[in-house]
Amino acid sequence: MATLRQKALLIAQGRSRVTVTPPSNKVSDYYGIYVFGLKQMKESLAPSVFKKVMEAIEKGSKIDPSTAEEIASAVKTWAMSKGVTHYTHWFQPLTGSTAEKHDAFFDAHAGIEKFKGTALVQQEPDASSFPHGGIRSTFEARGYTAWDPSSPIFIFDKTLCVPTIFVSYTGEALDYKTPLLKSMEAINEASVGICQLFDRNVKKVVPSLGIEQEYFVIDKSLFATRPDLVMSGRTVFGHNPARGQQLEDHYFGSIPTRVKDFMMDFEIEAHKLGIPVSTRHNEVAPSQFEVAPLFEEINKAIDHNQLLMDLMDKVAEKHNLKVLLHEKPFAGVNGSGKHNNWSLITDTGVNLFQPSNSARENLQFLAFVVATVKAVYDYADLLRASIASASNDFRLGANEAPPAIMSVFLGSTLTTVLDELEKNGNVKIEKGDNMYMKLGISKIPEIILDNTDRNRTSPFAFTGNKFEFRAVGSSANSAGPMTVLNVIVAEVLRNMLKDVEKEMSGGKEKKIAIVNVLRKYIKDSKKIRFEGDGYSEEWEKEAEKRGLSNLKSTPFALDTYHDKKVVEVFAKHNVLSSIELHARHEIMLENYIKKVQIESRVMGDLALNHVIPTAIQYQNKLIENANGLKGLGLDNKAAVETIKEVSRHLESLKQNVNAMIDARRKLNKEEDVAKRAKGYCNDVKEAYFDKIRYSVDKLELLVDDEYWPLVKYREMLFIK
Ligand code: ADP
Ligand code: MG
Repeated sequence: MATLRQKALLIAQGRSRVTVTPPSNKVSDYYGIYVFGLKQMKESLAPSVFKKVMEAIEKGSKIDPSTAEEIASAVKTWAMSKGVTHYTHWFQPLTGSTAEKHDAFFDAHAGIEKFKGTALVQQEPDASSFPHGGIRSTFEARGYTAWDPSSPIFIFDKTLCVPTIFVSYTGEALDYKTPLLKSMEAINEASVGICQLFDRNVKKVVPSLGIEQEYFVIDKSLFATRPDLVMSGRTVFGHNPARGQQLEDHYFGSIPTRVKDFMMDFEIEAHKLGIPVSTRHNEVAPSQFEVAPLFEEINKAIDHNQLLMDLMDKVAEKHNLKVLLHEKPFAGVNGSGKHNNWSLITDTGVNLFQPSNSARENLQFLAFVVATVKAVYDYADLLRASIASASNDFRLGANEAPPAIMSVFLGSTLTTVLDELEKNGNVKIEKGDNMYMKLGISKIPEIILDNTDRNRTSPFAFTGNKFEFRAVGSSANSAGPMTVLNVIVAEVLRNMLKDVEKEMSGGKEKKIAIVNVLRKYIKDSKKIRFEGDGYSEEWEKEAEKRGLSNLKSTPFALDTYHDKKVVEVFAKHNVLSSIELHARHEIMLENYIKKVQIESRVMGDLALNHVIPTAIQYQNKLIENANGLKGLGLDNKAAVETIKEVSRHLESLKQNVNAMIDARRKLNKEEDVAKRAKGYCNDVKEAYFDKIRYSVDKLELLVDDEYWPLVKYREMLFIK
């Protein structure tokens, strides 16, 4: 009888492509048809109602019941015209995925379809099963969701989805969106403060975000045969294929047909949902790809990314494919990240990270660059914690991924400018552009987007007109790290304004005051700047000398949530209270424990129930063979050698698995969640994962291919 692996391979090999036909040759014909955006609102609402919605979006004002009623009614009519029967509040609990609970429009008692204003604005999902880190048991057991009018309502899978926040009845955030929206307010206020030094017309600043999403794609049936992929999202075993990414022929190569069909399909669906996806290409590892939309306002970009991940999963099903969003589904090849391209844009249309030809604007540009660099320096540990997860730990610092050390890359042009600014001390105010010239900032080339001046090894790089935070994991909700980034930059900007004002009240002219403060900030945060190879060992050493943290594992990285400075910065900007922060910390620790626990169990199961029995079976064959040879008076050395080798690996495999199970048992008695998480890291993961894998991967090389139960790397990674 064929093994499951062989059957799956036959199925995968027999697949044919699933071709797709776009609804029209022009994307603009169907772009956003599933979105109830501003255009639809304007068309279907009375002008006075529309005005109130705009106020809610722009100023965050509350929507009154009668307005809500009118919007709900218009939304219902629109949705029903598209065949929609159900609605849901769509939110982002701290599980990491999105949540929905569908209700029918149809009210059987009344015999009509209903969607009330109250149902649009607020709902009370059964929240008990969502992570809350102790918040709801301490306060109230209930939580509710409330409409976020700044992110458009959409139709997904024949269901009307209303983007919402998710909070406890006492107001604590239980989701990612709530603190993100608050952090937008924080950075808005702080940025406007600095902008007003340069241009009184600036009244609002909004962060924008473009998320490049990396992912792997493998055949669905191959996926299904690997319990490790199914349970933990990554392969815990698997020997590297003879041909990995050494040849580097996959990067920007032609996209395999089945994957291309899949990409086209999800792009069409994404466009219908108003997700502005625009770029697709192969990534470095075999079977790895990337999709990138155009940037949008940060909360829309994050909603869209969450939706896109969901969408990709659903569309892949149709193509008999499985999307792997885990940061490190395959050891030894490139991992997947989610590059967060972040910038700040004013309501006057200026990208604050865009250098210009005007010296005055360049001083403003430098103020924002310097503030960002200083924020990363001041809060490096917090930024590191914001991207910490069990799965991202496998990626950071391994095969072509930024290490766990936070640093900022600026490129040679900006580095020179900042160095000059720091050096050129006591400038005097002079007429015209002389001062700027002296400072070396009169002519920062407007476009520093030169591709040769890019460092792909940096976790946090200036890329011409934005910063790119590359350490974010591919499966993460970007709201976590982006909330942190907004808050810490807001903090520095706020202090910067105070410092400038202080200089000015001491009699300094405004420009001089700004320059003085910038010089100080540049000096203070210099250690975080690094232009070299972030993947190199030298950098690890150098970073240590500089006193920069290198927190390799999540539970240790998360310790920073106890730091007074961290608690204060969240509270000061009204983004997370210390209670909320503490709860989040606990959820992340619990999450970490669960992930490592699951992997450890999967490893144990696979080793004990699949690998060891198979190896023994094969060993018995060898013993038969060795005895037969001996009986014939022939040399059986090779067979005996192999038997011994298999035995050796079997022995240590069994030993390590048992020891790992013991370690787990011990840890489960540990009451303190942080200690338990650290224990899972050191005493389970670090102590045994590699050792166990080593034996299994060796056995994979020794055991007859016919017998081997697990689909191999080479079989998964090279899709047609
Ligand atoms: P890369 O070379 O890293 O692939 P791209 O130039 O293709 O970078 O852009 C990557 C992402 O950055 C895209 O999503 C793009 O829309 C986004 N982006 C471009 N400009 C900005 C900006 N000002 N703010 C935020 N994101 C931006
Ligand atoms: Mg990039």
